[in-house]
Amino acid sequence: MSGCIFCRIVGGDAPATKIFEDDLLVAFLDIRPITRGHTLVIPKSHAADLDELDPALGARLFAFGHRLAKAVRRGELGADGANLVINDGRAAFQTVHHVHLHVVPRWKGDTLTFAKGFVLRRPHDPERTAAAIRAGLDRLADEEEETTA
Ligand code: 5GP
Ligand code: ZN
Repeated sequence: MSGCIFCRIVGGDAPATKIFEDDLLVAFLDIRPITRGHTLVIPKSHAADLDELDPALGARLFAFGHRLAKAVRRGELGADGANLVINDGRAAFQTVHHVHLHVVPRWKGDTLTFAKGFVLRRPHDPERTAAAIRAGLDRLADEEEETTA
C-alpha cells in the first residue's frame, strides 16, 4: 500500500535491518527499540489491523514471533524472556497501521533499563544485534534437528 512505511520496507524501498524473510513475513529491528533486539514481525501483504488480517496469516505471524522469543534466549543476546505485543488500533496506541508483532527481549532484573529504554528508545548496534538474533535462530534450528534425528 503506497504511503505505508512497512509496505515500503517489504518492497525494499525503505531501509531496515532485516532478521528474516520468507514468502509471507518479514522480521526487522524496530528503529526505536525499547530493549536490545526489539524486533517487529509483519505480514508482507498490507493489513491495517487485526480486523483486516487473515487469521491463518496471524497464526504464521505468531509462530515466527514464538521462534524469535526462543532465539533471543540463545547465543550472544542471552535474554531471559520476551514481551510479545500487538497494539491493535489507535485506541491501543497503534501508530503504524500495518499489523506488526513486537518481540521485546527481557532480562532478569531489567525493570529499570526497560523503563529507561521505554523513554529513550535508542538503537543498540543494529548490525551486531541482528547477527546475534540470526545466530539464535540458527541455534534453534540445530536443536530442532538434533531432537528429530
Ligand atoms: P505501534 O505503536 O504501532 O505498535 O509501534 C510501531 C513501531 O514501529 C514503533 O515501535 C516504532 O519505533 C516502529 N517504527 C516506526 N517507523 C519505523 C521504521 O521506519 N522502521 C522501523 N524499523 N521501525 C519503525
Ligand atoms: Zn503496509
